[in-house]
Amino acid sequence: MAALLDRINPVDKLEVASRRVFLRVDFNVPLTREGKVSDDTRIREALPTIRHLLERGARVVLASHLGRPKKGRDPKYSLAPAGERLAELLAMDIPLTDECVGDGARKVVTDLRDGRVALLENLRFQAGEEANDGDLARELSRLADVYVDDAFGAVHRAHCSVDALPRLMPVRGAGFLLQRELNALGKLLAGPERPYLAVLGGAKVSDKIAVLEALFQRVDGILIGGAMANTFLAAQGHALGKSLVEADKLALARDLLQRAHERGVPVTLPVDLVVAGSVDAESGTVVGVDGVGPEELALDIGPKSVALFRERLLRARSVFWNGPLGLFEKAAFAAGSVGVARAIAETAGFTVVGGGDSVAAVQQAGLGDRFSHISTGGGASLELLEGRRLPGVEALRT
Ligand code: ADP
Ligand code: MG
Repeated sequence: MAALLDRINPVDKLEVASRRVFLRVDFNVPLTREGKVSDDTRIREALPTIRHLLERGARVVLASHLGRPKKGRDPKYSLAPAGERLAELLAMDIPLTDECVGDGARKVVTDLRDGRVALLENLRFQAGEEANDGDLARELSRLADVYVDDAFGAVHRAHCSVDALPRLMPVRGAGFLLQRELNALGKLLAGPERPYLAVLGGAKVSDKIAVLEALFQRVDGILIGGAMANTFLAAQGHALGKSLVEADKLALARDLLQRAHERGVPVTLPVDLVVAGSVDAESGTVVGVDGVGPEELALDIGPKSVALFRERLLRARSVFWNGPLGLFEKAAFAAGSVGVARAIAETAGFTVVGGGDSVAAVQQAGLGDRFSHISTGGGASLELLEGRRLPGVEALRT
């Protein structure tokens, strides 16, 4: 397989001094009810590329989407809070345009001096963004001389700012964050050290069928927890009470287990569970996989499962983890995710975690710096590991 970064210019190889650089970032940050940035990780992840461009004297035109605005310009989805946070981090004024195109945007960009930044308003205020529209791409292309993509979280979507636009820009390349993501995930894709284990959890099998199927062909073992495991346990005939189970996916789960068996890929399911009468319970009870009462919900994997997963993980040389092993947002049901995060942190090998909630679980456990790589893109990392071509990555090749 060709390397993921083949024929993609790294940002530090591009001539950018005094040039207008369209930098696509992922500032799709969570906001508080008062409209402040509640977690600025994504903004900080973009800083190395932004700083590099500023030091080289570029005129940086930042662009991002935020949320899913349905009806054009909607102040609820303004990038203003992200812009304010970035202005603090860079200690400089950052003008925000009223729209990402039009007279206002053109004026702000024209006034931009070397070594300064402007932020375009939410790309998704334009219907053409998600439609990958050629006219929008042409309009955006007039705002810049150079295109740089550092929005790993958005490259799996064929949207205008990551697909149609870069194809119109003769000088284009990848920012440092995008390079780092492609290098790390590329290692798992191309030639991971073995044994290579995948840990999958989260809420739904249906969200992750494609990656499950692809991983069954690439890994030496799969460990399944979280609500996803409920569906697999139910498929094996266990009674799961009121737990989250996808009843319409039982046949599929059985089929996946059968195919894994035929391929000789061991699938490890929980051997015990933490159950409670409701998601708001203050604490749970540990039971075996046949001990879930008819009115109970399985909300975490139990301590025996953590020990079993741990034993497997400590012998791995490569690990990919996506999806919490339980309802980790509640302290009573976080032990499974924290225990597994700890085991992966102790694994002497190449370890990657991807997915918004999984990464939050790792950070919550204070283990962020103990993983080889923390992926900023949930969907993008899964699609990459499925072996799919990502539109925003392909569009950068020259
Ligand atoms: P990621 O964002 O890492 O890709 P997902 O979005 O697929 O992960 O799943 C995360 C969600 O799954 C979390 O909100 C977590 O509480 C929930 N979850 C995991 N296990 C269970 C469970 N047993 N019961 C209910 N919810 C669960
Ligand atoms: Mg999630």
